[in-house]
Amino acid sequence: MSGVYVSYPFCAQKCTYCNFASGVFPRELEVRYCDALVREIGAHSWQWTPDTVYLGGGTPSSLAPDALRSMLDAIPGRPWAEATIEAAPGGITPDLARNWVEAGLTRVSLGVQSFVETEIRRTGRKHSAQTVFDELTVLRDAGIRSVNIDLIAGLSAQTSESWQESLEWVERLGPEHVSVYMLEVDEDSRLGKEMLLGGVRYGAMETPSDEATADFYETAVERLRARGIERYEISNFARPGFESLHNLKYWRLEPYVGFGADAHSFDGRVRHQNAEEIADYLAGITPVEDVPHLEDERFFVGLRLAEGIRPTPQEWLRFDQPIHRFLDSGLLETNGVDLRLTDRGVLLSNEVFQEFLET
Ligand code: SF4
Repeated sequence: MSGVYVSYPFCAQKCTYCNFASGVFPRELEVRYCDALVREIGAHSWQWTPDTVYLGGGTPSSLAPDALRSMLDAIPGRPWAEATIEAAPGGITPDLARNWVEAGLTRVSLGVQSFVETEIRRTGRKHSAQTVFDELTVLRDAGIRSVNIDLIAGLSAQTSESWQESLEWVERLGPEHVSVYMLEVDEDSRLGKEMLLGGVRYGAMETPSDEATADFYETAVERLRARGIERYEISNFARPGFESLHNLKYWRLEPYVGFGADAHSFDGRVRHQNAEEIADYLAGITPVEDVPHLEDERFFVGLRLAEGIRPTPQEWLRFDQPIHRFLDSGLLETNGVDLRLTDRGVLLSNEVFQEFLET
């Protein structure tokens, strides 16, 4: 089965750590973008019926109900096995949530990042812990049974105490799915530029060290596990049966089609990427085509998953040296058939992936 990704790169504010091609744009551009998106989806010739849909961004939760409906109506396969919308806390009303459910959405991914006031403000976001609490109730009342909460480890001003506070909120709210990202400050983000300049805006002088961020991540792994929310991918944790069906397709190299600015598509052999900038997308710039080396990709993308990968006899031979080095150093483990990252290997996964890419 295949998935559909729809990109909606419009946000109420530009978060200080964000380096995506998303942000605050004029309303008029948003209207033109929605029209173009519906046209692109409508013109697609479907070779299969999708079973998952993912509206990402940006902030698709700010889409007007009519525009959202037009987009989803153009996608075949409803009711989908899973249909997710990314949402910024603040502004989720009972009417909006009811509209989402009626339009076929089944899952909401909340971009919370932190439940601690100082940390939230420094990201540029405006919600509070109470907002998340109230809006989760609204979503549950509307019939949303699958909720993800995004957290970021490594935000400015974060301490082990404040991180515990965010994790306590997660435990109190009981989402089915949690994503924990370790912040790597990008120098193109506002925060990154400020850090390069040696400035203090956005709390640039108070970002935790890499070691502290890794500690926060490990604490999250333990606390979530104790609540039955297990890591199934490096950054993703779920109760059994609530793993993101759509995102699993990326890690398992299954096909998906993407619509909108910067959206990627993969048909099982060739990958396409739509123009990154909204203006280029609206101007109809042709998507860029790439034929990936699937054997390599399967290897290091699959290792992101807790289930690991089952190398072919050829792969055991080809990667013999790095596999044995990482087994000896405790970054990989095997039962003789499957290969997986250990807990320590997860923290050093970039190093492991890089090695396999160069082999
Ligand atoms: S982090 Fe998300 S909400 Fe914030 S600017 Fe980037 S895309 Fe928008």
